[in-house]
Amino acid sequence: EPTTPLLEIDGLEAGYETGQVLFDVDLAIDEGELVSLLGRNGAGKTTTMHAIMGADEPAVLGGDVRYRGESIVGWPSHRRANAGIAIVPEKRRCFPRLSVVENVRLAINHAENPLGLDEALAFFPELDDMRRKEARNMSGGEQQMLAIARALAANPDLMLLDEPFEGLAPYIVRRIEDIVADINAEQGITVFFVEQNVAAALAIADRHYVLDEGRIVDEVTSQRIREDAEFRQRYLGV
Ligand code: ATP
Repeated sequence: EPTTPLLEIDGLEAGYETGQVLFDVDLAIDEGELVSLLGRNGAGKTTTMHAIMGADEPAVLGGDVRYRGESIVGWPSHRRANAGIAIVPEKRRCFPRLSVVENVRLAINHAENPLGLDEALAFFPELDDMRRKEARNMSGGEQQMLAIARALAANPDLMLLDEPFEGLAPYIVRRIEDIVADINAEQGITVFFVEQNVAAALAIADRHYVLDEGRIVDEVTSQRIREDAEFRQRYLGV
């Protein structure tokens, strides 16, 4: 008997005033999975993520985004959050003049069933050591940890990450890989992320959707990507 996926995108068509970008995008993520969406520059990864997150743009022109079987298209952000969806946006977007503690407290105050502050920071010893530091004075990697800590503080069932490894030094990429993998394996949180960094995606996820020119061209395992150089070159540019 098939179970309802936690997150399901069904025939999604989306775009901007300048034109349609996504065409008939289908994907399904079951509870407990850790799945990536890969694709070259401009393939439509961020557009897909924004459509799931319910950002002002792109406009959803057709199809559906379902969470626990229910359409969430048009839901306001607080309703998504209360339903258990947490977002780690592109470029982190921490409040620059707020400290680590203040950033996490804001997330806790806005959540319906949050973790405690210490619990949210327990995953990040680095942040625990800089509780009073303002986000603007932190490195990109530290800010990424803070963005993930805020998402985690809401005690979500599903965490969506938009290019979590972008612009980070290699050793920080490895640290964020570990954090995301642990959030999935230890906390049982379902994770879906879009990423340009194929190596990082392969390091933590075993199932990947591949997007090209706004269409899902394949759904592949890490092994397939590792073994098929032609596929890598053609769709991932690496
Ligand atoms: P990247 O890694 O470069 O962000 P991507 O796979 O995330 O690539 P998108 O950012 O989703 O791709 O872009 C897909 C297409 O949509 C591109 O042709 C882009 O120019 C266009 N696009 C993205 N954002 C907008 C916008 N706000 N308004 C108009 N067109 C946009």
